[in-house]
Amino acid sequence: MSRIKKGDEVVVLSGKDKGKRGKVIERIPKEDKIIVEGISITKRHIRATRRGQESGIVEREAPIPSCKVMLICPRCGKRARIGIKISKVSEEKLRICKKCGEVID
Ligand SMILES: [Zn+2]
Repeated sequence: MSRIKKGDEVVVLSGKDKGKRGKVIERIPKEDKIIVEGISITKRHIRATRRGQESGIVEREAPIPSCKVMLICPRCGKRARIGIKISKVSEEKLRICKKCGEVID
């Protein structure tokens, strides 16, 4: 199960974007993949299909496996090993940073 959520800041652990940080802008739970802002940029050529439309190259982020990233703890700013804690109030599962103990959400 992926513990990464939309809006999280993550760091890339491997590949050409290794060490880069970005914000999760989309999750694809079915494939266990995520799309991270500015990470895994691919160039796509588009052709003008209508008059007045420009053809050219569009850059967009390609999905990457969520196991390739690690969450950055919003409090200590370090790569966070995530733990799970059950909220006493709502009985919901909360993610905590194992380093500083901060509840992430
Ligand atoms: Zn932390």
